[in-house]
Amino acid sequence: MFELLIGLVGGAAFSWLISYIYYKKSSVQIPDWAKPIIEKLPQEPPTKEKLLDLFQDALDKGEVKIDPVVGYVACPECKASAKDFKKTAFEDDIYTVVVVECPHCGWNKTIKV
Ligand SMILES: [Zn+2]
Repeated sequence: MFELLIGLVGGAAFSWLISYIYYKKSSVQIPDWAKPIIEKLPQEPPTKEKLLDLFQDALDKGEVKIDPVVGYVACPECKASAKDFKKTAFEDDIYTVVVVECPHCGWNKTIKV
């Protein structure tokens, strides 16, 4: 679980840095869920420990949620919060299939559980 979190944080941290740099250079719209985190980022590139700290903080405060089915914090297409994901489950005698869908852009992922 911890390794998964590190992986997520690494990927997410990279996205945040890109958003942060872009945001500082223009008036690009950034997703609401990312604003509190980006505003907390210092001017200098933060260390991975600091980013982990910020991420944990955001998790604790409920500003960021990891979707328990797909393990994402945001839609991979439009970056909307994973809190908005819609889930539909289908079940037969052998499998349960969960379709996770982003209501903003239609991105979806089907998972067999
Ligand atoms: Zn989306």
